[in-house]
Amino acid sequence: MKFVKKYKSIGRYNRYTICRFCFSDKLSKVIHLGYVPLAGGFLRSQKDFSHEKLYPSSLAFCENCFLLQTREVIDANTLFKDYFYHSSAIKTPAKKTQISFRIVLCSLSSFFIILSAIIMNKNKNIEYTA
Ligand SMILES: [Zn+2]
Repeated sequence: MKFVKKYKSIGRYNRYTICRFCFSDKLSKVIHLGYVPLAGGFLRSQKDFSHEKLYPSSLAFCENCFLLQTREVIDANTLFKDYFYHSSAIKTPAKKTQISFRIVLCSLSSFFIILSAIIMNKNKNIEYTA
């Protein structure tokens, strides 16, 4: 990516060439998303753009254990240095999670009601035939 090399600096990161779960070397590239700044790393002024570091972001698939994983890992001290996003403190994701949980709970309840009805119906058939 010529734009990145000419105008932006690349931050420090580690790139895995083996699976991070099973250590297999059968990783296949899925997608490379290019070079991106850290999420939530908001800049304070216009001149900060020229110093902003970018990081490669790509996904790989392990053909041994089927884990989809990021290949590049940024050091935690860098990643969370100015990290202010706390999912529990922001109300919108918390509300969406509550709604999603209720939907899952309702779906599971319906599933178990149908399952118990099927089991009860089967037991009736067993009583008839026995
Ligand atoms: Zn693996």
